[in-house]
Amino acid sequence: MSLSQEDRIRGYDAYITGLCAQEDAALRGARERTEQAGLPAIAVPAAEGKLLQVLVRAVQAKRILEIGTLGGYSAIWMARALPADGTLISLELEQRHAEVARENLAQAGLAGRVEIRVGDALSSLAQFREEHAPLFDVIFIDADKSGYIRYLDAALPLLRIGGLMLADNTLSDIVLDPSNHERTKPYCAAAAAHPALLSVITPQLREDHIDGLMISLKVSDASD
Ligand code: SAH
Ligand code: MG
Repeated sequence: MSLSQEDRIRGYDAYITGLCAQEDAALRGARERTEQAGLPAIAVPAAEGKLLQVLVRAVQAKRILEIGTLGGYSAIWMARALPADGTLISLELEQRHAEVARENLAQAGLAGRVEIRVGDALSSLAQFREEHAPLFDVIFIDADKSGYIRYLDAALPLLRIGGLMLADNTLSDIVLDPSNHERTKPYCAAAAAHPALLSVITPQLREDHIDGLMISLKVSDASD
């Protein structure tokens, strides 16, 4: 069978999604309302949402921190893997995105399990540290790409040992150019070399191209 690379990626994605990551009405509705509200269509694909859900369940997470809410699509996937007394806190800069997300989470029956904090994520992270907030089991970074490296420093102290630091959009053609250090590359280099983290970048299918989710397990409190 002769297929273009794009068609192969689309076919693989349709196969995984059909078998493992079919959207129900709440997820479909969240995606549609996000688009109708004029927000960008940059949520994780369904198959990656399912991967997030599997990871949340694998570490038996009760507290999840998300950096970058958009319309709450990835939050729905993750919050559904929480126990009834679990919590997901999602940080979002744009008031309007937070409003759309709150509606989507309510429609999914998750309003009681998810809190959205509006403001710059770095300030919210500093506040968590000042308040000695209980540690998180999973932290999912998916906001402004140049901010990832700062989010790593600010968020790692908030993650328990045995918890997962996840970072979306970590694989693109930028990695093919060794002289290019833009977007999430500084984060990936730092996470890969960090003594407290056991890390790998997993390729993720996105319609007709490939992106990535970096998965880092916190194995100690070492900082250098
Ligand atoms: N996780 C979402 C997609 C997030 S898109 C999903 O997969 O469904 C990235 C989001 O990060 C946008 O909503 C954007 O407004 C937000 N963002 C950008 N800069 C931010 C900052 N400094 N602090 C918090 N959120 C930010
Ligand atoms: Mg993303």
